Amino acid sequence: MEKLIITAALTGNVPTREMTPHVPLTPAEIAADVRRCAEAGASLVHIHARDAEGRPTLDTAVFKETVRRIKNETPEVIIQLSTGARAGRDWEARANPVHLLPEMASFTTGSNNLPGIVYENAPDFLLFLAGVFKATGVKPEIEVFEAGMISNALFLQKKELLAPPLHFDFVLGAPGAMPATVRNLVFLADTLPPGSTWTVAGIGPAEIPLATAAIAMGGHVRVGIEDNLLLPDGTLATNAELVATVATIAHTMGREVASPAEARQILSLDPEYKDRILKQID
Ligand code: ZN
Repeated sequence: MEKLIITAALTGNVPTREMTPHVPLTPAEIAADVRRCAEAGASLVHIHARDAEGRPTLDTAVFKETVRRIKNETPEVIIQLSTGARAGRDWEARANPVHLLPEMASFTTGSNNLPGIVYENAPDFLLFLAGVFKATGVKPEIEVFEAGMISNALFLQKKELLAPPLHFDFVLGAPGAMPATVRNLVFLADTLPPGSTWTVAGIGPAEIPLATAAIAMGGHVRVGIEDNLLLPDGTLATNAELVATVATIAHTMGREVASPAEARQILSLDPEYKDRILKQID
């Protein structure tokens, strides 16, 4: 079986210091936590930015400062920036992280409910953001909260806005979207075209069980405080502890954990794009 890519989703938009003391919020905290997660086995990090008050932001300056510190401390890890909507709904602002030319950025190809909001990704916005991905050559991670989002991504591929092989992240168990069951995971994985890669992000207590299923199925896993605050024993987790937990399960199951270089190969990332972001953050 292919080596396992562990993604760490460290911060997200929702966790606060009141919810857990372990969520990294400032660029310095995020960079230090990225290093610990990489040491524990993460080859990819999914990054959100927070402003000085800890609120979600799409401010390019904060992303730049965060990336600068990550590249200093952990130069090899693959950086994936978020284009999620909780930090703002302006189209151009949501595309800002892609214009920084990270190796990857997230791309939710459809709309669904989330606690308190409609997570809105309308058809014309999808065409717009897919065009930015195409123009920049940044590899999207297609975030799938509902099965129809796979069809939407394949429509964008048919329009030649997204280039195969596509990489998907199944986000399962978010209140308002597809429930976190192994049956749903198997269905989604079976729905992908051949050659695709996929990872799973189980929300809350589903995080480690769905990660374990994905390790057995040959998929990849995303863990972190963005999706889940707790270790399986119910205590508050650090991001590195969540990464270490799935790394241990993978070892126990005989599946090796991928290095960043191996993850780049599995994800068909262009090696020439590895450090393009350094010029953008100068
Ligand atoms: Zn995110």
